[in-house]
Amino acid sequence: MKIRIDHIKNKPYLLTVDKPVANFPVLLQMQSDGECVFRGNVTAEIAVEREFDHLKASGRVQVPVDLVCGRCLATYQSVIDSSFRIIFRKETARQSEVEDETELCDDDLIASTYSGDEIDLAHDIEEQISMEVPFKPLCDEQCKGICPVCGADLNISGCSCSKEPVNLKFSALKDFKVSR
Ligand SMILES: [Zn+2]
Ligand SMILES: [Zn+2]
Repeated sequence: MKIRIDHIKNKPYLLTVDKPVANFPVLLQMQSDGECVFRGNVTAEIAVEREFDHLKASGRVQVPVDLVCGRCLATYQSVIDSSFRIIFRKETARQSEVEDETELCDDDLIASTYSGDEIDLAHDIEEQISMEVPFKPLCDEQCKGICPVCGADLNISGCSCSKEPVNLKFSALKDFKVSR
């Protein structure tokens, strides 16, 4: 996933990635932390081109994952799919990073640096994926979750304790009064 700077000429250099998660330490860590389970290879298509005084990488990363719904606790399949743009500037000894960052007013543009004669996109790829894994996954926006009393999955069926006990008592009392 390394690109030699001198290979980037006038037209964009295209990098195609299709690698097992084992190549990405950040993703392996997420998996061992139980955040998600990656079901297949990380794929990416990234174009790197020269632009003004810097290099611009724009592309898309994808990886299939198993996530656990925060409401119903069911495991469901999803695909992490992220498009990104990264500006790479050559790392310099002088401290001008603050100055450089203020020039970037575009929110989805990431600023990075490189040193030496190549850039390695492996870390940027795993960073993109880790940012896109939902913090509180939901199998569906409409997921009803599980009953806090009996633990039934309310997406599959209702349960007898789905009504508030207080309301039951109250309506029984009302019926009693009406029948008098
Ligand atoms: Zn759910
Ligand atoms: Zn219940």
